[in-house]
Amino acid sequence: MAAPIAGLLLGSFLNVCIVRLPAHASIVAPQSHCQACGAPVRPWDNVPVLSWLWLRGRCRDCGAPISIQYPLVELGTASLFVACVLHSGATWQTIIDAVACFLLLGLAVMDAQTMLLPDTFTLTGVLLALVLKVFAPGVSHRGVVAWKTFEDAVIAAAMLLLVWLLYRVVRHRDGVGMGDVKLLAMIAAFLGLPLALFAYFIAVLCAAIFAIVLVARRKARGQDRIAFGSFLAVAGILAIFAGRPALAWYLGLFHR
Ligand SMILES: [Zn+2]
Repeated sequence: MAAPIAGLLLGSFLNVCIVRLPAHASIVAPQSHCQACGAPVRPWDNVPVLSWLWLRGRCRDCGAPISIQYPLVELGTASLFVACVLHSGATWQTIIDAVACFLLLGLAVMDAQTMLLPDTFTLTGVLLALVLKVFAPGVSHRGVVAWKTFEDAVIAAAMLLLVWLLYRVVRHRDGVGMGDVKLLAMIAAFLGLPLALFAYFIAVLCAAIFAIVLVARRKARGQDRIAFGSFLAVAGILAIFAGRPALAWYLGLFHR
């Protein structure tokens, strides 16, 4: 029972981060308030999912609609936390996976809405991954673990920087955002380099398909930017749960 409740509560906090971080506002103060009229949210109207339901998605004071994104993010976080427990049981790995899911879900929503991937999530994420792995119970060579995690993050970032450089030289534009570079570094720190590259590959594939559909529907406007970070973050979540078997299957193709 702990996982879904922790998921709902942290999902509620994630909503605060999603609204405030891209706007460079504090995530601690002031307390939650209506986006329309500024009225503070009463504690009993701040219960994850349930409050949104009994207020029928409207502010108690001014009646302005409250985005369905709030309960969805709360339910999403809770579902991911449950999935982490089902995936790895009562282990330290479950905590690492849950922290990664929390950050990735938040980044996916933030990039989709604002085209921003705040350092408060990506760079802090690299640090969190490092600390969680180094201080995992039963780890004997903490220095080696720290170096490996750091190395994976740096190599992942360097690879995406190379893509950025190629874009600049060949097409004279920024094909990769610096936020994407830090996000891939974070995924590599949490999941290791192979799974980060798997996530990158899936994200590029999905973003390309999305772009083709977009162009076909609106008859070619090449300037439109795609929130690639959202694709990468969702692919990162996918890699947590399905990356290892998918990679094993793929590599198995070359060993027949
Ligand atoms: Zn209001």
